[in-house]
Amino acid sequence: MQTPFYLIDKTALLRNLERIQEVRRLSGAKALLALKCFATWSVFDLMRVYMDGTTSSSLYEVKLGREKFGGETHAYSVAYGADEIDEVVANADKIIFNSVGQFKRFAPRAAGLSCGLRLNPGVSSSSFDLADPARPFSRLGESDVDIIMPIMEQIGGFMIHNNCENADFALFDRLLADIEVKFGRLLERVSWVSLGGGIHFTGDGYPIANFAQRLRGFGERYGVQVYLEPGEAAITRSTTLEVSVLDTLKNGKDLAIVDSSIEAHMLDLLIYRQSAKIAPDAGTYGYMVCGKSCLAGDIFGEFHFPAPLKIGDRLSIQDAAGYTMVKKNWFNGVRMPAIAIRELDGTIRQVRDFTYDDYVSSLS
Ligand SMILES: *Cc1c(COP(=O)(O)O)cnc(C)c1O
Repeated sequence: MQTPFYLIDKTALLRNLERIQEVRRLSGAKALLALKCFATWSVFDLMRVYMDGTTSSSLYEVKLGREKFGGETHAYSVAYGADEIDEVVANADKIIFNSVGQFKRFAPRAAGLSCGLRLNPGVSSSSFDLADPARPFSRLGESDVDIIMPIMEQIGGFMIHNNCENADFALFDRLLADIEVKFGRLLERVSWVSLGGGIHFTGDGYPIANFAQRLRGFGERYGVQVYLEPGEAAITRSTTLEVSVLDTLKNGKDLAIVDSSIEAHMLDLLIYRQSAKIAPDAGTYGYMVCGKSCLAGDIFGEFHFPAPLKIGDRLSIQDAAGYTMVKKNWFNGVRMPAIAIRELDGTIRQVRDFTYDDYVSSLS
């Protein structure tokens, strides 16, 4: 296959999905895929066996969830427009509003759906200001119990998302305890509570039994159906970006240029100033691996190889599923990576390729 392409490995994906299923079984919680992290619908046939449905952050995502994944479809948006609310309602099983203002304005147009509200507990596990839902002056959810109380009768459930890349069960436990102190008297009056995403419970060594027990206890204490909204945890370590070396040169360091671009194809790493991962990353030959866009800082990172890199060598950039395919773009007109799937029997199948016509039709 011609590089560049994203390669989704269903066997690796299955390892995460089985852990999700185990948490569902032990805890009674339901798990919804957060489409903003991963929306490559060609593998939804496998994912829907192990998860209950999807959650979304826009009209287009909620439509995609209903159309391509099925199961339970939750709608959420930071702000709905009057022109989209009816179509959102038509495609959702539950709708979650971000503010009391949006709730009052649009809940009357969501007759028949259970309507929820996003709460902001004011604390989170995020160390990155850009992605911290509890940052000062955050617009993500309501935090003042007094303004929520007058509409409590109409609220069917709450959504709280304040974990970010949190692999520490003790920290999750403390954050949840904090939520119980702050909002306990609201939680006991609704029938469901979604605890959002950002909990890395599919990682190796995560104490799944303790986690599930905490969720089950929480659900029983308030008499609510608990939901989880994993994004990254569902697809972590399942996908690579396959690229080839186009050129090598030297400028103080050995440089290799590949047929991809971090700005166009793994933008999230650039935004959060993180290095990509290449496996295996071992050997005596160090290279800075760079993208082919003309952005000076289009650099995947510095890696080690067992032999000098040469033109045509294939490199495998790891962990290229979450916040990656959903953010790819046509910067510099760089050829868009195709999408391929390694099936459970090991065969590789290309499910999408992109052409010059796709580039042209992305603008006018
Ligand atoms: C981003 C987000 C998720 C998914 O987060 P991950 O870190 O990818 O698990 C879930 N729910 C809400 C409300 C979100 O904003």
